[in-house]
Amino acid sequence: MSDTEYHRLLGMGKSAFEELENHLEERSYEGRQYRHVPDYRRGVERGTTLIDGTVVRGFPKVPRTLVLSEGIPEWFDDYPGERVAVEEKLNGYNVRVVRLDGERLAFSRSGMICPFTTRILERLVDLEALFEQYPEAMVCGEMIGPENPYTAHDYPEVDSLAFRAFDWRNRLSGEPLPVEIRRERYETFDVPQTRLFGQFEVDEAATEIRRIIEELDADGREGVIMKSPDGTAQLKYTTSAANQGDLAYAFSLPFDYGQPFMFRRLIREGFQSIEWDESDAVARERAHELGEAILLSMRETIDTVADGDAVGERHTVRASPETVDVLLEHLDGQGLTIEIEADRREDGDRVCTFLKRTQSTTDKTRNYLDGHIVKE
Ligand code: ATP
Ligand code: MG
Repeated sequence: MSDTEYHRLLGMGKSAFEELENHLEERSYEGRQYRHVPDYRRGVERGTTLIDGTVVRGFPKVPRTLVLSEGIPEWFDDYPGERVAVEEKLNGYNVRVVRLDGERLAFSRSGMICPFTTRILERLVDLEALFEQYPEAMVCGEMIGPENPYTAHDYPEVDSLAFRAFDWRNRLSGEPLPVEIRRERYETFDVPQTRLFGQFEVDEAATEIRRIIEELDADGREGVIMKSPDGTAQLKYTTSAANQGDLAYAFSLPFDYGQPFMFRRLIREGFQSIEWDESDAVARERAHELGEAILLSMRETIDTVADGDAVGERHTVRASPETVDVLLEHLDGQGLTIEIEADRREDGDRVCTFLKRTQSTTDKTRNYLDGHIVKE
């Protein structure tokens, strides 16, 4: 298809599209060429993919508030008198599933076709009837559970890997369905969904959410996403458990995580502590936990490198041998260094644990241990 049609599908001018084209990443999946928008650009969602003459829109960036009581009325003031729906924010990886020419494909956040997710989804959820009835649907959800190649976070209800739908958009326009209609439709098609805590008046939402967040925090869960009834406005807020969990993870690979990643999570803790009007004793407890998250994970890493071992992100996947093969090839194609640590067969599946090596942390830690002098 000519680019003229792509610019029309994206609803942009020709010259704006030409500008965009310089920033598209080119890839192929099983012999099909496609291009995607790998980063944030004005006018087009990150993760938007141009493939076979059609478009798969990216999932929009979800903004965050650091202070519930002020942020919620500020963000939802275009919806006077309406309620905000509060859903659980799950900690896994984002996936968008669409059907193109009869083939179901799973796209990553940045708009790549993920060969692993595309295959494993077939086991996890049956979307046949849904796409039969709504061929332009873009099923958006989170892949959660311990056994996946991207984000390992445990949920007691998930042994290996599971899918939870949290949005339903039009593949071409990116327009979402209203929250209630979306939830009903997924229910009709028997598609598992993220939890809905309720719909609250804007003025009462902060109080309700604080209660919800306290429960989620106690269970080590991530947080909530608030949504306007029409599904267009979204706002996120996370638990201290999630902030500290991220910090622990980032400080276990301190030279591979960007410093803004750590800084932002520290700041969130500060604002939560103030909004919740913590007593001196409670704030000290938070400070203690925060310190542990940072220091203990860092110590473990330094110890590992001191013992001569490499550090990195460890993942386990459980899938058919073919699926694991294409996954390892896919990761390799992205320039990642993968070390297989354990590999076995179980009930016909291949269960493979591997380490994505994070070279900067390994090298820098080694240098510092060797007495490298820093001028700072
Ligand atoms: P971004 O903010 O750009 O989406 P991020 O990596 O910073 O990217 P998160 O902080 O995890 O993302 O928050 C947004 C993500 O939360 C969504 O992209 C989605 O994958 C995930 N998510 C989990 N549960 C929900 C939900 N109920 N509704 C919407 N998104 C959800
Ligand atoms: Mg996430």
